[in-house]
Amino acid sequence: MTALQTGDRLVSVEPDVIDWLKMPRPMIIDGEQVGSDRSLDVEDPATGRRIGSVALAGPELVQRAVAAARATFDDGGWRWMSSAARSRLILAAASLIDRHTEELAQLDALDGGVPIEYGRASIAEAVLTLEYAAGITARITGQTVAPANHRGDLFQAQVIREPLGVVAQIVPWNLPFGMAVEKVALGLATANTMVLKPAEQTPLSALRLGELLLEAGIPPGVVNVVSGFGAETGDALVRDPRVNKVSFTGSTVTGKAIVVAASANLTPVSLELGGKSPFIVLGDADLDEAASAAAENIFTLSGQACTAPSRMFVQHQAHDEFVERLSAAAGRVVVGSPLDPRTTAGPLVSEVQRRRVARYVDGALEDGATLACGGAPGEGAGYYYAPTVLTDTTPRMTINREEVFGPVVTVTPFDTVDEVIALANDTSYGLAAGVWTNDLAASQRLVRELQAGSVWVNTYNLFDPALPFGGYKQSGWGRETGMAAVELYTQTKTVAAATTERTSP
Ligand code: ADP
Repeated sequence: MTALQTGDRLVSVEPDVIDWLKMPRPMIIDGEQVGSDRSLDVEDPATGRRIGSVALAGPELVQRAVAAARATFDDGGWRWMSSAARSRLILAAASLIDRHTEELAQLDALDGGVPIEYGRASIAEAVLTLEYAAGITARITGQTVAPANHRGDLFQAQVIREPLGVVAQIVPWNLPFGMAVEKVALGLATANTMVLKPAEQTPLSALRLGELLLEAGIPPGVVNVVSGFGAETGDALVRDPRVNKVSFTGSTVTGKAIVVAASANLTPVSLELGGKSPFIVLGDADLDEAASAAAENIFTLSGQACTAPSRMFVQHQAHDEFVERLSAAAGRVVVGSPLDPRTTAGPLVSEVQRRRVARYVDGALEDGATLACGGAPGEGAGYYYAPTVLTDTTPRMTINREEVFGPVVTVTPFDTVDEVIALANDTSYGLAAGVWTNDLAASQRLVRELQAGSVWVNTYNLFDPALPFGGYKQSGWGRETGMAAVELYTQTKTVAAATTERTSP
């Protein structure tokens, strides 16, 4: 496979973006742009070229950012602000981000290899997420409770929800701006303060987010952004005793390390981790639709998506035709420059990631898998890898057990619904699942039996800010979207106030 050379149609990078990249990008701490004596180069994965650099936060700068978030929370101005005022600020941020869509999509294209059209759509989703969050501010409510063992006229008992305080938010590189906004939006809605750490591979759009939030009027110190490596910057953040919660999106291995680090202070952690999501096609399904949805969802972002449907199961009678159609659809994927609007799959984020993907595919072939299509890196510059379909794999093979995070899928035949339930659930992950059928009873059965935080029927990757998203099993802890997120971002206070002069029960 050769990465397309599509220079004629590339969108031109905006002058503002070019200017912005000229200086090492500082962090955002307490409303100020803060530099560092250490910096981190930022590379364009489509060319392998350095496109800029960002300040790198060692433990001292992380501590400074946490101190700013702590002081801003403790000061009270933000946490006691009326919900209407907070909502207006979040809406102002949403509309400012909307106006900067092109610039932000270009940053994610240059920094993370996100195809420009996909990036634009992800910025639009981020705007919707902020708008939804603005609506939540006025809906964080408590309860009055009638005591069970006490006379009801003696106490007024209330359960109220309060923000946690300082939230550390650590995000991965696969959809940099969207991931950052998903975390920040709920933190803002629930009146917490935050320290956001983007991935070392893709720090740019999160730093720009920090700038835009300030410009929109979010008070200094509410959202602080620090860039750096996981083992240093991320670890210092997780271990800081002034942090009240850690919210992490990334790999399961790193999630486990974060849980261990956070346990020193018993800091609560929510985790949105990896997946090995099954995509199940019953014999009666519309194969055209199923195969094109399959291709779209495993190959966009070059498979670098936590919900990537990387294990496909197709009922026997449809298996061969499905593999043919999926391979044909893989051939139609436009692999090329993220700045070309025709591109549907960009490069992998780094050479390290591309080697990892190649190792998984080579390993599967050594284990006896058959290559239906793909299986090779792109030629020339950039970290491209061809959309790859593998057959003749078994559930025990590494390719079916570990998350590849690349444009690679296995297709396995099955006979009965019982059999596919067992196959689909035979994984330590449980993030998502897809079901393709018009058989109502079979789909209902699959919906109930599949061990996954999201199950999509005759559709896939349907996200909405109002819908809870998160994983079963080793795919995560907690639900960070929808009203379910309010529970993760607030704590419960029980108040029992005597209504008479009698103060003891
Ligand atoms: P990948 O392995 O695919 O690079 P990770 O899950 O390791 O993805 O990274 C996701 C995020 O977690 C990144 O922001 C990364 O810097 C951060 N990170 C990695 N290791 C740690 C760690 N030990 N403590 C805190 N954050 C970490």
